[in-house]
Order: sequence, then structure tokens, then C-alpha cells
Amino acid sequence: MSLIAERLKTVRPSETKAMTARAAELREQGADVITLSQGEPDFETPLPVCEAGIQAIRDGRTKYTAVAGIKPLREAIRKTFSRDHGLDYSIDQITVGCGAKQVVFNALFASLDTGDEVVIPAPCWVSYPDMVLLAGGKPVLVSCDEAHGFKLRLAALEAAITSRTKWLMLNSPSNPTGAVYSRNELLALAAVLRRHPHVHVLSDDIYEKLTYGCEFATMAAVAPDLYGRTLTINGVSKADAMTGWRVGYGAGPLALIKAINLVQSQTSSHTSSIAQYAAVEALSGGRDHVREFARAFLQRRDLVVAKLNQAEGLSCRLPDGAFYAFPSCAGLIGKRTPDGKVIETDTDFAMYLLDAFAVAVVPGSGFMASPYIRISYASSLEDLTRACDRILAACATLS
Ligand code: PMP
Ligand code: GLU
Repeated sequence: MSLIAERLKTVRPSETKAMTARAAELREQGADVITLSQGEPDFETPLPVCEAGIQAIRDGRTKYTAVAGIKPLREAIRKTFSRDHGLDYSIDQITVGCGAKQVVFNALFASLDTGDEVVIPAPCWVSYPDMVLLAGGKPVLVSCDEAHGFKLRLAALEAAITSRTKWLMLNSPSNPTGAVYSRNELLALAAVLRRHPHVHVLSDDIYEKLTYGCEFATMAAVAPDLYGRTLTINGVSKADAMTGWRVGYGAGPLALIKAINLVQSQTSSHTSSIAQYAAVEALSGGRDHVREFARAFLQRRDLVVAKLNQAEGLSCRLPDGAFYAFPSCAGLIGKRTPDGKVIETDTDFAMYLLDAFAVAVVPGSGFMASPYIRISYASSLEDLTRACDRILAACATLS
């Protein structure tokens, strides 16, 4: 009998984590690797937020908290939803977890019976399909072509829904494509969902604050009649440069939030008390830093996309949000490296970039879309410039 569960056999390791770990290993061996493989802002957590964490320690707020999260944090989240989107939740409809990642997982674990289906527009974040598998569900990937802005088409959504569909996952702005659904596009999807009242919406809005020249919209606000079957997930990791603090949250129907809290009560209990107090400050303090970060990301996006489009064999759309560029490397497939190795897949190209040019990116296959690579531009302009120069040089060596 195998020690490792059968269930894990189909689950892949997180490709973002795997590439970042490989880059770290090379760096430890002395290589000057530029790591653009993980979606993590390079900014420091804003000082007032850090101070709030330190103050929480000084005040002895170092004990277990309520499973759903401390009340002041859920109150700050309630106000944020109400102020930013006119979304009205009671604090019992809000749960806080160890990052948005855990809230997504808890929601799937709390809701999926074996074989229940989850419609996932692809390209998608690496973790969605595998989280569905871990929870015993069946990921139903719906391919969204670049020609349609990597967005879900109505007919494709309609065709993917069956009597077993429990969730549609939406992630706008998207990791990895940066695609942002407009209000009207969400309304069109809502019209399809109205015909299928058994389908719920998991709206992962973690990149909400990072849009460039377009407006963010979220399903529960755009289609109030779907409010009762939508779980809206967000957090402070990306917008507030707080990835390591591990605070994310979800708001939705009371029965679902109770089920998520039940899962959490038997697993992690809650995220760190100290991090929760820091997150209160992040959400209710000035938040000017969020606008500053977004301005910096816009400048980085423009630099990276312009440079990538100069590379022989790459072509990159201008993403409307998040902090990822997702160029196609179709023009490189079939080419040879100076050593004679044929680049057959996006993984081959990503490995060539890492091994020969010391730049870590993630192959599109991790995001269920090939041949692409994902480049996180949440790094300094200097690093991005050096990395893009290396990518250009790498492409130029292929023949
Ligand atoms: N959703 C998406 C689409 C993401 O890219 C990430 C990044 N890790 C998360 C959720 C999870 O974020 P957190 O760090 O809050 O767990
Ligand atoms: N979401 C980020 C990424 O896609 C962080 C790493 C992870 O949790 O996958 O790179």
C-alpha cells in the first residue's frame, strides 16, 4: 500500500513555486539569476502597516483569534466592499484565511462533492485546477484564445456547463494574461449564468487594484441577482505588498462562509493574529501606497511589453491589469539552441532561459496555455531591463 494518497497522483506541484525554487538554488550556487517567476511585488510592506503588526505584538495580541478572523478586520473588509463596490455584506458573511489562496481552497473543499465540476477559463492561475482535484472535483478547462483577449466566450461557457457544474471561476484582472472583464462583459456572462441557477461564481479579485486605463468590475456588484451565489475573494498580498503576511478574505452566502469556517476550524484555525491587525491598517489606513504601486507597475508593464515585442519569435499583448506579461513564444518553437537542442515546447524555452541566460519565468503550460511564457514584472526597472535584454539575447541565439 502506497503511503501517498491516490488523490495526489493527478495533482501537479505549483509551477510558480517550482521555478522560483529552482532559481533560488542556482542563485545559492553563485549564478546571477533574475527571478521573474513569482507574482510578488518587490515593494516593502508600507511602514504604518508594519507598525500596526509590531503594535499588535506589544499589545499582546498574540493569542488565537476567532476562526473567521478578528472582528475589526472583518469590519474593515465589510467597509471596503461597501465603499468600493456598494456590496453589502454582514461581518458573518466574511471569512479571513491564510492568503486568498487558502480561501479559494477552503471554498472548493467546503463545496465540492466527488465529481462536481468547476469551469475554469484558461489560461488560468496554476493552482486552480489542482485545488479542484485536491478537493475531489473535476476541473473543466475552457480555452480562451488570445484573439479574443484571453476572455471567456459566451458560447464556450454555455457549452461547458453541465448538471454537475458547481462553480465558474473568474479571475479579473487575470493571472497570467492580465485580461480585465468590463462591466458589460460580466453582464453578458451573467445572462448565461441566469439560465443555470445551480452554477455559482467564484470571483477571485486579488488583482482588483492593479488595472491600467480600464475599470475594474466584479460580478456580485454588476449582477445583484447573482450576489446570492457569488463568492468574492480578495486580499492584501498584491495591492498592499503583503505576500508573506498571509491574509486573504472571502465574502458570500452565509451558508458557504459557515462551511468555509468549519473547514478552517479543523485545519489552520485562522491566519496569524499579528498579520490580521496589520491588515486592518492596510485596509483602513490611507491606501495611497496602492496607487503608487499601481503607477510603478504601469511603467514597468510598458517597458517590458515594448522590449519583449522586439525579441525575435515573441509577441506580447499589452495586459490591462495585474503584473504579468504573457508573450506567445510560438515563433520560437522548432528552432535550435547553439548546442543543437530543439525548442519543442514553452517549457524547453523557459528552461533554456534559466539555464543559459539566468532568467526565471514560468512556462505557459503551468497556466494551461501553450506556447507562452509568463513574466512577472513586479520587479525593479533595472532588473526588468537586464532580464529583457537577456531574453532578447536568448531569442537571438535560436536558429
Ligand atoms: N489568486 C490569484 C489569481 C493569484 O495569482 C494569487 C497569487 N498567489 C492568489 C490568488 C493568492 O494570493 P495570496 O498570496 O493572498 O494567497
Ligand atoms: N500568485 C503568485 C504567482 O502566480 C504567487 C505564487 C503562487 O502562489 O502561485 O506567481
